[in-house]
Amino acid sequence: MLVVIALVCGLLVGALAAHGAETLMAKRAWQSPSCPYCTTPYEPIQWSMALSWLLGRQQCKACGNPQRWQRLAGEILLAVAWALIAARYGFSPRALFAMLCVIPLSMIVVTDLEAKLIPNRIMLPAIGVAAVLGTLFGLPLPFSDQWLWWQALAGGVVGFVAFWLLANVGIAFFGEGALGAGDVKLAAYIGLITGFPFIILALLSAVVLGGVGALVILIARRGTLHTAMPYGPYIALGGIAMLVWAPEIAAWFFG
Ligand SMILES: [Zn+2]
Repeated sequence: MLVVIALVCGLLVGALAAHGAETLMAKRAWQSPSCPYCTTPYEPIQWSMALSWLLGRQQCKACGNPQRWQRLAGEILLAVAWALIAARYGFSPRALFAMLCVIPLSMIVVTDLEAKLIPNRIMLPAIGVAAVLGTLFGLPLPFSDQWLWWQALAGGVVGFVAFWLLANVGIAFFGEGALGAGDVKLAAYIGLITGFPFIILALLSAVVLGGVGALVILIARRGTLHTAMPYGPYIALGGIAMLVWAPEIAAWFFG
């Protein structure tokens, strides 16, 4: 029952977050969702991509173009993450905090997949809120209530430095565009919500997931990775995995 509630709420909030992400990325005023091709407003039933795909209503009524799958990915990511957290930890205060922390992650998954962009308008407020809440109330890791006040901040610093170094190594070897400034800010945010030392596992998970993802794309395209792939979703998944399975991931990496 808890899981169903979390899933439904996650789909609703996910639809809102995905719409908010596109609105913030485009820097436009808040308005009801509309078709990206012909700007005809969607019917209310199409505001949730998950609902409209489920009902077979994913085409725009005016121009027939399908709704964006990237938005659907953001909605489903948030709903699944909330359901997993609720299934394991119920609605404890720390579990609710973890659910809150997933919202900006689902938003940047939408923008990064759509435009390879992780907007400051999403990342900077998220970093600010996570830094304050993490320092005052501890980490949103629901498996444990123990924490030290500096863990969130130390995690943020480690995430930032690690990906800043990786981004600069990437530029040295592969040229511009492998990892961007948005990815570095995202890694800092993941550090703030997973804390030290768990940020290390979150980043290792992101690198493993990114490697698997690159391999899949490579095989699917039977060729080289010519187009740079967005890395944000892998970092976000690494962070979400820690919120849900931190003890298991720690055991998996360190035996
Ligand atoms: Zn249209």
